[in-house]
Amino acid sequence: MTSPAFLIAVTALLNFMMLLVLMSLRRSGLPGVREWLWANVLELAALGCYLASPLGFAFIPIVLGNALLGAAICMFYAGCRRFAQLSVPVRPLLISLVVYTIILGALRFYVDYFNLRVVVTSIYHGTLDVMIGYTILRHHPKTRSTHGHDFTGGFALVLALAYLARCVLYLLHPELKYWFTDYSALNLTFLALGAVVIPGLTMGAVVMAHDAILTASEEVASRDFLTNALSRKAFIEQATRQMATAARSGRPVSLLLLDIDHFKSINDRFGHAVGDEVLRDFTLIMHSALRAADCLGRLGGEEFGLLLYGASPAEARSISERLRALVEANTMRIGDNLASYTMSGGLAHWSVEESLQELTLRADTALYQAKDAGRNRIVVSQPTAPTTPPEHER
Ligand code: GH3
Ligand code: MG
Ligand code: MG
Repeated sequence: MTSPAFLIAVTALLNFMMLLVLMSLRRSGLPGVREWLWANVLELAALGCYLASPLGFAFIPIVLGNALLGAAICMFYAGCRRFAQLSVPVRPLLISLVVYTIILGALRFYVDYFNLRVVVTSIYHGTLDVMIGYTILRHHPKTRSTHGHDFTGGFALVLALAYLARCVLYLLHPELKYWFTDYSALNLTFLALGAVVIPGLTMGAVVMAHDAILTASEEVASRDFLTNALSRKAFIEQATRQMATAARSGRPVSLLLLDIDHFKSINDRFGHAVGDEVLRDFTLIMHSALRAADCLGRLGGEEFGLLLYGASPAEARSISERLRALVEANTMRIGDNLASYTMSGGLAHWSVEESLQELTLRADTALYQAKDAGRNRIVVSQPTAPTTPPEHER
């Protein structure tokens, strides 16, 4: 087997392995995986055409092979667009592929001009690599690990540079020969680079997909299934982080503990399903009224915690009052009737030496006081923390 052919066979093997890895990701339902799979299938078909070069039918490697490889890189680009939740410019991609294939055919069967064919393929693939790199680096996720993005985007841009170098070299050196019969280090280097394009990019795509799956499962684990508020554990973790940030930056923090009034009687009168609906309705009101930095957690049953980051005591008080008024003014449909419910809140402003536990205790005491005073109100905790937890039952 000639060396170029050997390289192509190794690439085919790599492609095949990447196909198996991508198949295992299909179940994830992530956008883009299907297109990346197809990119590898198309490259396998293209490699088959290249391997058929010695048979002597120029159409197979030059027109069909290059069209399939062009389609593979277009498909990979489409996968990256889908993965980044962007639309795929199907028509422009198809038109570019058809024009590209026609040009290559003309450069073989109209005028047989090998070097110009290399220039055309390098420009086509280099441009798509730039588009892939740009799409991936531009749509970096803001909140999760980006190693996969950095690698894939960076790799695509390096490939584009290599294609540019190839383009310039073949323009300046018309004596360079047909690649399948050329054993020179230069030809083999470009061939090896070309060979790792789709498998290398696919490897990066797999890392990006794994990052996305991990983030999604962390998100599911940190959310309460019924209300989509943070789980108690995630709330404590996030609140602790925000308090540490506030301690460094000197930003104010307040904790509001919220509890729906007479919730048990809602359950008793209308059933548990309606109770669940009230919990969802309540969280929707909270989320619609809060900023992204405020963290809302379901601490248990119909009790919620809200950490107001960056709000001064006066602002925290007015936000709490606004939330209470929103809940009071809100009506929801229960069967044929419109019903409303209220909430009580205990608000405590954090002083920097205080732990989350101590802050929670103060807010909880204020919440008890709000219940005792007749519900549907916010009570603000006095700055001095109580030393023993309240003993009476709500
Ligand atoms: P108060 O005004 O003093 O807060 O009275 P309350 O009835 O709201 O409080 P209580 O603690 O007596 O009752 C809370 C009820 O919430 C009891 C429990 O069955 C119900 N509950 C807890 N979790 C859920 C849930 O996920 N769904 C539903 N529907 N009910 C729940
Ligand atoms: Mg309650
Ligand atoms: Mg309660």
